[in-house]
Amino acid sequence: MPEKTVATKLASTRGTKFRKINMSRKVSQCPRCGAMSKRHSIGHRRLREVGISGPTVLEVTYSKHYCETCRKHFSLPMSHLAQPSGRFTNRVRRTAVDLVIKQAMTLEKATQRMRQKYYVHVPPTTLHDWVVAELTLA
Ligand SMILES: [Zn+2]
Repeated sequence: MPEKTVATKLASTRGTKFRKINMSRKVSQCPRCGAMSKRHSIGHRRLREVGISGPTVLEVTYSKHYCETCRKHFSLPMSHLAQPSGRFTNRVRRTAVDLVIKQAMTLEKATQRMRQKYYVHVPPTTLHDWVVAELTLA
């Protein structure tokens, strides 16, 4: 029943705010050699963001480029927004890590706080990895 499928989908995403961010560029600098490289395609990522009044998801559009000098593809850098393969924004990561390191919460308590106050579910195992990375860097 197609109608039921649609209704279920709407119900599950109700209240979630989707914010679109278009970071696509026609040219970008190759991270290897610095040559300006043309866009060859477009990519999309969904990132969970800190929510103010409900769950918030960023829908990021970015460009993929091809460097003719290196003969390699690369994606537009966006490390200011999120880690390369992460599902969360840096803001979520920063906020959650601070709860553990600066406010001395347990991983479980911090996970609970993130869900209740910021409407984002960060699994304790993920948070654990973030905290370890943070402490290793410091
Ligand atoms: Zn290059």
